[in-house]
Amino acid sequence: MHQPVRLQRFLDGPWPDRAAILADLDGCLISGETVLPDVPELFARCGERLWIVSNNSSDTAQSLSARLAALGLALPPERILLAGEMTLRALQAARPGARVALYAAEPLQDLSRALGLRPDRARPEAVVLARDPSLSFSDIARIAAFAHAGVPVTLTNPDTSHPGADGTPQPETGALWAAVAAVVPQVRAPSLGKPAPDLPREALRRAGVTAGAAVFIGDTAETDGAAAAAVGVEFIRLTRPGEEPSLPAKTGACTC
Ligand SMILES: [Mg+2]
Repeated sequence: MHQPVRLQRFLDGPWPDRAAILADLDGCLISGETVLPDVPELFARCGERLWIVSNNSSDTAQSLSARLAALGLALPPERILLAGEMTLRALQAARPGARVALYAAEPLQDLSRALGLRPDRARPEAVVLARDPSLSFSDIARIAAFAHAGVPVTLTNPDTSHPGADGTPQPETGALWAAVAAVVPQVRAPSLGKPAPDLPREALRRAGVTAGAAVFIGDTAETDGAAAAAVGVEFIRLTRPGEEPSLPAKTGACTC
């Protein structure tokens, strides 16, 4: 189902009983620091079968779990898969102890060091670009120079924006990369963030369930829907805050 529906309609259907419910974060569960309508019921209904699968590259699973707890939503770090954290874990697995020029906010910088990657913006073996709110002109020039010299660049996520608390689009990693890519347009920077299948595939592996026993909810067909399709999981698109559902109500009162 690719027509957007409200979360309440999802909760009224058969999907919450699936063995694993994979959920996007921004615009699906929260918007800024606001918990979206009916999300507490989703957490209560789905319990340990609920997983967050997000392109977030500002938090770690640990820091996001704490942030959600402060909003009254309990989910342990083990059931939170974030593109930024997974990118660093994949790099450490492929190239243990690599010298990395990491452009990211503090939680990911701390995680990178804890994993054993070595921060090095002078002679890096790899560049990782995340949603770095302090990225500067000189950083853009430097990343472009590394890329031009053949140092591999990885993006934590390709999104160019995510909705802010009032719906205003906020710059994301893909927007930062667009500035670099304008300088070195021949360079390609891969990402394991959605729409790639890596995050939902890892959630299914950890949950120990097959794709057919799971469902994926998210607000963006191009990323959430494509990632779900890539691993064969049914996708339900939820309305964004302020967006009207396209499906009419079944009966008199609107249940969508
Ligand atoms: Mg979203």
